[in-house]
Amino acid sequence: MKARVRYAPSPTGLQHIGSVRTALFNYLFAKSVGGDFILRLEDTDRTRSSDAYVKNLYDTFRWLGFYWDEGPDVGGPAGPYVQSERFALYREHAQRLVDMDKAYYCFCAEDKAAKKDEAADDDASADAASPSGFGYPRTCRALDPAEAGKRAASGEPHVIRLKIPLDGVTAFDDILLGRIEWKNADVNPDPVLLKSDGFPTYHLANVVDDHLMGITHVMRAQEWIPSAPLHIIMYDAFGWEPPKLCHLPMVLGEDGHKLSKRHGATAVDEFRKKGYLEAALINYVAMLGCSYEDGRDIFSLDDLARLFTMEHINKAPAVFDYVKLEWFNGQYIRMLSDAELVSRITPFMAEAGLVAAEPTEAQAAALLAAAPLVKERLKYLTDAPDALRFLFAEPATPPAAEMLPKKLDAADAARALSAAVGLLRAVDPSDHDACESAFREKAAELGLKLGDLLMPLRVAVTGTKVSPPLFQSIAALGTAKALARAERAVLALLAAAEEGR
Ligand code: GLU
Repeated sequence: MKARVRYAPSPTGLQHIGSVRTALFNYLFAKSVGGDFILRLEDTDRTRSSDAYVKNLYDTFRWLGFYWDEGPDVGGPAGPYVQSERFALYREHAQRLVDMDKAYYCFCAEDKAAKKDEAADDDASADAASPSGFGYPRTCRALDPAEAGKRAASGEPHVIRLKIPLDGVTAFDDILLGRIEWKNADVNPDPVLLKSDGFPTYHLANVVDDHLMGITHVMRAQEWIPSAPLHIIMYDAFGWEPPKLCHLPMVLGEDGHKLSKRHGATAVDEFRKKGYLEAALINYVAMLGCSYEDGRDIFSLDDLARLFTMEHINKAPAVFDYVKLEWFNGQYIRMLSDAELVSRITPFMAEAGLVAAEPTEAQAAALLAAAPLVKERLKYLTDAPDALRFLFAEPATPPAAEMLPKKLDAADAARALSAAVGLLRAVDPSDHDACESAFREKAAELGLKLGDLLMPLRVAVTGTKVSPPLFQSIAALGTAKALARAERAVLALLAAAEEGR
């Protein structure tokens, strides 16, 4: 049977590292076995779902560059893929359970405890299994079904609740965690399946859809484990075979707590804005709790899809390491061609006002010349504007104090910079070795360290003490412009020396 897996987000928040990891593992599993990867929007919680989150979902995955075989945007044989477009199906199935005496009408809606219970069931996961004696007291389970049916048909407000068996055990074999068992007495007593407004809860819609969409494997976060017994009981009640379940290890921050905003960026959008490359993020996220091939770190999406196997998922929680991700990002930046790097940094350069959003021909050429200057150094694409500003904007002449090498005064620095200017007129800045030996010789002649000779020139030309390699930078800028900046800086140093006297 062809494997079919789904990513089933509720559009009630931004896509974050954990959600992308779930989507990615499902995608990789599907691709590794030639199966289908399906997107299903679980928007049953109408108050918390929003179009903005749906848009964020599409934007995120468009950026990451992996796609579903079936989904709301691409269609498919099992659609619609948005739960709010499937409400009639859920009603029909809830009714079917009532007719089979596996579920019952409950009229306790005005009861505060029942209301709370209804809301919680809609919400999510964590409360699905509960200690004995907690939750809805099963009042309406005792009603005569025919009588209850009449009351419901007459329009009396009601919900539909699942009959959790009163004794016995519910169990399943998690692909990763092995056998998981609950005493039915410990399962949330009789969760709501259909709310009083006719909307399904997460549990009903999730089970009905996984079945109707032919889902063979459910891979989802471990926080959903408490929902599993309800789902298994529902599959049993319908007489359906449940999909195989695989609950993925948590993603933690360095301090051992669940990864959250406290640890740093978690929303994928933030990583994009910070200048991460999607391939680096995918590579790193794929490794959160799964291994691929020993002794190797860099994997393309295709590599990952080829190598993925559920056996290599770890049981232990994964720890999100921002430093490691930064390393991956640097590696991926180095792998870009100059032209690719230019197209990646251009939006950030434009945002900083250094080039036009559609760079002019001259800007495009300058960007291409600048790419090799920074490729080996950038940690993030967002570092590019600061590193390359000196090529695209005329820096103000730096204050003299910023151009003073340690232990030298303004008069010494002026002398050093004048000597550097003289040399610069004579050398070809694109010949790094020749430049370096000329400057080295000059430094020895003046009794200076090479660094002290270069430092005022670097600050004068690039406006900063930490720049890309100096001679390459001068070559990219053009000697004439570099000279003009350096000459202005000599004047500033001389003026400071004069003042200091
Ligand atoms: N809608 C649920 C979520 O937001 C899906 C959980 C599941 O995969 O069953 O994560």
